[in-house]
Amino acid sequence: MLSTMQDVPLTVGRILAHGAGFHGAATVSTWNGTSADSRTFAEVGARAAQLAHALRDELGVTGDQRVATLMWNNTEHQEIYLAVPSMGAVLHTLNLRLPAAQLSYIVNHAADHAIFVNGSLLPLLAPLLPTLEPTLRHIVVVGPGDRAALDDAKARGIAVHDSEELIADRPTSYPFPTDLDERTAAAMCYTSGTTGDPKGVVYSHRSVYLHCLQVISAEDFALTSADKALPVVPMFHVNAWGLPHAAFMVGCSLLMPDRFLQPKPLAEMIQAERPTVSGAVPTIWTGLLDELDHGSYDTSSLRRVVIGGSACPPSLMKAFEERHHITLVHAWGMTETSPLGSFALPPGGLTAEEQWPYRLTQGRFPASVEPRIIGPDGTPVPFDGETAGELEVRGPWIAGSYYGDEELSSDKFSEDGWLRTGDVGTISPDGFLTLTDRAKDVIKSGGEWISSVELENHLMAHPDVLEAAVVAVPDDKWGERPLATVVLRPDAKIGFAELRAFLAERVASWQLPERWSLVEAVPKTSVGKFDKKVIRAGYAAGELD
Ligand code: ADP
Repeated sequence: MLSTMQDVPLTVGRILAHGAGFHGAATVSTWNGTSADSRTFAEVGARAAQLAHALRDELGVTGDQRVATLMWNNTEHQEIYLAVPSMGAVLHTLNLRLPAAQLSYIVNHAADHAIFVNGSLLPLLAPLLPTLEPTLRHIVVVGPGDRAALDDAKARGIAVHDSEELIADRPTSYPFPTDLDERTAAAMCYTSGTTGDPKGVVYSHRSVYLHCLQVISAEDFALTSADKALPVVPMFHVNAWGLPHAAFMVGCSLLMPDRFLQPKPLAEMIQAERPTVSGAVPTIWTGLLDELDHGSYDTSSLRRVVIGGSACPPSLMKAFEERHHITLVHAWGMTETSPLGSFALPPGGLTAEEQWPYRLTQGRFPASVEPRIIGPDGTPVPFDGETAGELEVRGPWIAGSYYGDEELSSDKFSEDGWLRTGDVGTISPDGFLTLTDRAKDVIKSGGEWISSVELENHLMAHPDVLEAAVVAVPDDKWGERPLATVVLRPDAKIGFAELRAFLAERVASWQLPERWSLVEAVPKTSVGKFDKKVIRAGYAAGELD
């Protein structure tokens, strides 16, 4: 028997209409270096409608054509975010930190019809032009920047527009379709491609909508219309973890950092604009902690800061809590999981001290994300908190294939359709996930596995250590051994022997690294995570001692 319920598609258009219509006074603000420029949700909705008219009438966007963005987190990006999927086209966010060759691969692979680009990023886009396929027909420049960089575009048959001129005088309402199939594509994002070519993950209207409900839930960001969210995580990195959509669903104001992502401006904008929630990868919070420790800022507005994208060092979480009264909540996710996968809120009834062991895990899964741990023999292992294996997940906002690879040639999917995450860990009887490492980063020494993350966490708990990354390097006797690369605080005087002794009190002696290297900075990936591939290559090339 079928239900008696209405069958209303879950679409981004619904989210836009709701936010602009029922939370019209909430704001999206963009930091300009000294203060924030704001527009109300009602204004953003009106401008999104104008944009949709321009896209249809001037740029000829029809059907599921891809409209790309090469932009910082700002109000104009939010308008494009909502307008493009709402009209049925597909938003394609481009990671502005990718190398040029990967960027042009992605634009060509997705067959982008138009690219919106912040004026300040034109020097990044212009050199790509000769490598782009003729599928690209339009470039729209948003904000100030030297348009001369695009002089070459016309000769290549690409029209160049100014975003404000494009939308000026157009109607402020648009007949967004209300009967879109919720399973059609709303947005796409390529994984940063640590191996091989980047792979496209295509989010549906339905997956975005359902994921949004999770973002706003008490078991995640807990967003309400009384909140102001600061997405430090870029809008090109898994849809800024769903915050731009979720904000419009509940009327939560947004504070966009634009290109001001360094610790000092972040601290200044938090003090001035008083966001209540935020989200970013650990390296951003490490930098901010240093700034807060050495400056005098009022960050009391922040009630919850979500940290994820790579393992959060316990010392970082504790330092924010103890020195700045800011609660960091650990979360796990991937581009393929939209990204919210698990979230580390402790169970009720525990003292602050008793909560820590739970908070330091990767957390529990929401009902819509089903996990299993696959042991070395290829079968699921029990959730006993001890038996480790590769985490696999499935659910309505988890990718089932990559764009252009519907044949499932990728080894990222199991034969029965689960996403193979490449992350190794355990799940406890009460459902808490603990990741020990990424499968490709674990150090296989003799018959034993050493967790690079565990060594890093201990090292980063040392007061003289700013950052530490541990990688596997080849070893004649053991196969692989750990190499510890360490960034010390400017005034630190500690030597490797002392650091090794510090570690020896915390891990088994056979796990202790023999190889150490002092570095000025740990290399980072395009989304701000430790880039262990680069460290391993540096060691192989003899650049690290
Ligand atoms: P990339 O693979 O380019 O880093 P993603 O952003 O999709 O792209 O990264 C997903 C991966 O990041 C996960 O598979 C996992 O290895 C790591 N990760 C994310 N969150 C956490 C976390 N809280 N703890 C440990 N690792 C994490």
